[in-house]
Amino acid sequence: MSIHKRRTRLILAIVAALLVSMAGKLPGIPGILGEVKAEPAKTEPVEDIYKNRMELLQRISQLTAIPWYELAAVDQYDRTLRKKSDTPAPAPLVGLRYTDPEWAGLVNPDAGDTNPLSILVFDGKGRDGNGNGTANRSEDEDLLRTFMEETLKHGEGIEGWHKELAKRYENPRALERIAQFSAIYLKFGRLDLNRYAFPLPISSSYSYRSTWGDRRGWGGRRIHEGTDLFAGYGVPVRSTCYGIIEQKGWNPFGGWRIGIRDLNNRYHYYAHLSGYAKGLQQGDIVEPGQTLGWVGSSGYGKPGTSGKFPPHLHFGLYKDNGHKDWAYDPYPSLKRWEREDRKRLNHKD
Ligand SMILES: [Zn+2]
Repeated sequence: MSIHKRRTRLILAIVAALLVSMAGKLPGIPGILGEVKAEPAKTEPVEDIYKNRMELLQRISQLTAIPWYELAAVDQYDRTLRKKSDTPAPAPLVGLRYTDPEWAGLVNPDAGDTNPLSILVFDGKGRDGNGNGTANRSEDEDLLRTFMEETLKHGEGIEGWHKELAKRYENPRALERIAQFSAIYLKFGRLDLNRYAFPLPISSSYSYRSTWGDRRGWGGRRIHEGTDLFAGYGVPVRSTCYGIIEQKGWNPFGGWRIGIRDLNNRYHYYAHLSGYAKGLQQGDIVEPGQTLGWVGSSGYGKPGTSGKFPPHLHFGLYKDNGHKDWAYDPYPSLKRWEREDRKRLNHKD
């Protein structure tokens, strides 16, 4: 650090100390997002959470020329990094995260600083978005304005945005996920995409039990990472989620298989199909209940091998945290989706 810079820092620190001592006496700085309502109560209905979040995203989108679905994708990706794998409820309005030093400034003596001026002086990122005079990470408007200003540093619009993302994640896998999420939001035009479905029509004849961790024979010693759902040839296999087709084609173990990425960064894996629904391609966006293919007994050999075991759907779930992925027992999710499908069916009658 040059002497000049040091002196500047010192002066800034003194100014900051003065500002901190004056805190509370300063008028609020009007926020760009001025008229946005205050943070919703915890008991707010889910529909309102989505509605408010969409309003914020649209507003930011107007100001930055970044499409709302790209903003939504980042918000959702950050959300998946910090919440438990199987809880789709959208608890906080915004998933963007900042550490104390990022928010308040690296050399700020007050790590929990919420004074917008002293934060500015200490080169922190935190901004006051709702004009209430504090830059507070628990206020969505403040988070969004902060995020927006960071983004605009790299130039306006989509180019600056993509530069910011590359810097923010430094991880091609994260960027790929965000692109996938963005495509899903674009396709459906809404944020409320948390419905799931059982992979087989619940009116069809099938049976399954928890088979997680069972040993299995083919291809060396492997443990069973999934649930086998036994059903006859030709029973439709349906998408369990809103998602994007990430994998499709032959795999020596899974036969004709398909893999779908959902908005909770989970990979839904379907194996041993007899064939695929017509026209289905990698990169296609699917919705819960949409037919992907049919139950079969493909697998355990060269492409086309079939009939080495009774027909069934092998269903697996894999969670991704941006650096690694791991399988977890899909049985409890299957049970829940089956229950929810049954409830929906009964309501229609
Ligand atoms: Zn299986």
